Amino acid sequence: MDDGLNGFLRAAGEAVGPRWVDDSRRARDGYGASELPAGPVPPAAVVRPGSTDEVRAVVRLANEYGVTLHPISTGQNLGLGGTVAARPGNVVLDLGHRMNRILEFDETLRYVVVEPGVTYQALADFLVEQGDHLMCDTTSGPPAGGPLGNTLDKGGGYTPAADHFGNSCGLEVVLGDGRLLRTSDGAVPDSRTWHLAKYGLGPFLDGLFLQSNYGIVTRMGIWLQPRPPVIRSFFFVYPEDDDIAEIVEIVRDLRLNGTVPTAIKATGDLYSLASRIPYPGERPISDDTRKQLHGEYGVGAWIVSGALYGASRDDVEPRLATVRSLFEATGKARYVAHEEAWEDPGLKIHIDTYGGRPTAEETKMLNWRGGGLVSLTPSTPMIGSVARQHQRLSRDILARHRIDTCIDYIFAGRASRGLHSIMFDPSDPEECRDVATACTEFRSAYAEAGYPCGRVPADMQASEMGHRDATFRSVLHDLKRVLDPLGVLSPGRYGIG
Ligand SMILES: Cc1cc2nc3c(=O)[nH]c(=O)nc-3n(C[C@H](O)[C@H](O)[C@H](O)COP(=O)(O)OP(=O)(O)OC[C@H]3O[C@@H](n4cnc5c(N)ncnc54)[C@H](O)[C@@H]3O)c2cc1C
Repeated sequence: MDDGLNGFLRAAGEAVGPRWVDDSRRARDGYGASELPAGPVPPAAVVRPGSTDEVRAVVRLANEYGVTLHPISTGQNLGLGGTVAARPGNVVLDLGHRMNRILEFDETLRYVVVEPGVTYQALADFLVEQGDHLMCDTTSGPPAGGPLGNTLDKGGGYTPAADHFGNSCGLEVVLGDGRLLRTSDGAVPDSRTWHLAKYGLGPFLDGLFLQSNYGIVTRMGIWLQPRPPVIRSFFFVYPEDDDIAEIVEIVRDLRLNGTVPTAIKATGDLYSLASRIPYPGERPISDDTRKQLHGEYGVGAWIVSGALYGASRDDVEPRLATVRSLFEATGKARYVAHEEAWEDPGLKIHIDTYGGRPTAEETKMLNWRGGGLVSLTPSTPMIGSVARQHQRLSRDILARHRIDTCIDYIFAGRASRGLHSIMFDPSDPEECRDVATACTEFRSAYAEAGYPCGRVPADMQASEMGHRDATFRSVLHDLKRVLDPLGVLSPGRYGIG
């Protein structure tokens, strides 16, 4: 171990308490383990601060001793790297371990303020304890993941507050040089509107801390929504891959005119089955086997889902009738009602997320191929013919590398987030190589088509940034020099620094 790191760890132990500094083999292996095809990215050690002051002290020490830090919140960013950094040798700053308090809750103004370690499950449980009148959007991923880390990676969900950054308000940030920044109205001492009025005075800085390495966020406000008295989900099963064109044409207006307040998803057959059944046979799964699985499990090439909110069943029924008439007019869609879906663990995942309830069911997909998982998420416009073309593009590229196509399209009104979950066996070097090559081809093909990926795993961020133009990249580097002049925070994250 070099002198700089040794000195840093000693001094960090004094700053946070020696028991919160860990450079054991076990810690390095645990935090360095990755579900990505590039395999482990071992850190040098782990430090677990307990307060913003301790984070500042550790950042100052990193500058002094020339050590780099990789901050994580709950480290559950699975499919995107979990606890690993873009490069090996950082000290992981595990904020979630001790900084896991709900700092404020205001029922009248409907917001909470959280530290990095507050999980979706903890927040949901807290809101239930407060009477279950309010809800926070959640992901369909691990309930042990958290809203702060998720928001910083531009995550999204399924209720009307699916835009997690859009529903955040006010950050506290320790910059790379150790300064403490409070964004927007938080910059006014004793401001009462830090977590209420989002934009404040002057340039809006909050966005700088998403998918970057300029600062460590230690506090974030989240706006909550009222829990509607009635939430009724709907499902439509479509038989063919190319039906996606028709689905998109229907969904666009339902979202743009506000008939359906939640996201609408089109979940592919294999995405849906991956968390429910053992992997069926040799990779990749053939179209014949897919058809067989459709019959066996009552799924189709796509399962369309969404939910309606209302004051009562009577309030919701007319809108449900409108939605049904649009989908059923095509003659292809089979309707599955809320009550039937409730009994099906695969469909229940969607019901839970449309109601802001965390669920661990979907994470079972990690077991499908032994634990390897990559998530790639290109956004594409809500035009049916474009959607058809893109799902064909995805299937062609992945099939060429003997990889199954598992897609969950999440539709907003104008664009759809095409969540491609690539599951693989991490113990098979050939399969890892296939996945890495396919991901490079996939990202290039989408960027060339004009629809670049918006969120990619740690080991692909630098190359994905290469698809952006020189001005964009140079501005990012200039900002890094100002906010983290010695480059101590997560070098290489999203290709910066
Ligand atoms: C089956 C499955 C389904 C999923 N579904 C969804 C979904 O619906 N929507 C979705 O968005 N995601 C989804 N995910 C991905 C992931 O689980 C969530 O996004 C998760 O909530 C990330 O939050 P986290 O606290 O674990 O983030 P972390 O892993 O702690 O952080 C993410 C990244 O942000 C940076 N970071 C974290 N905290 C800080 C900080 N305080 N300061 C500065 N930088 C920081 C780090 O570089 C870190 O690598 C899914 C994953 C799986 C396996």
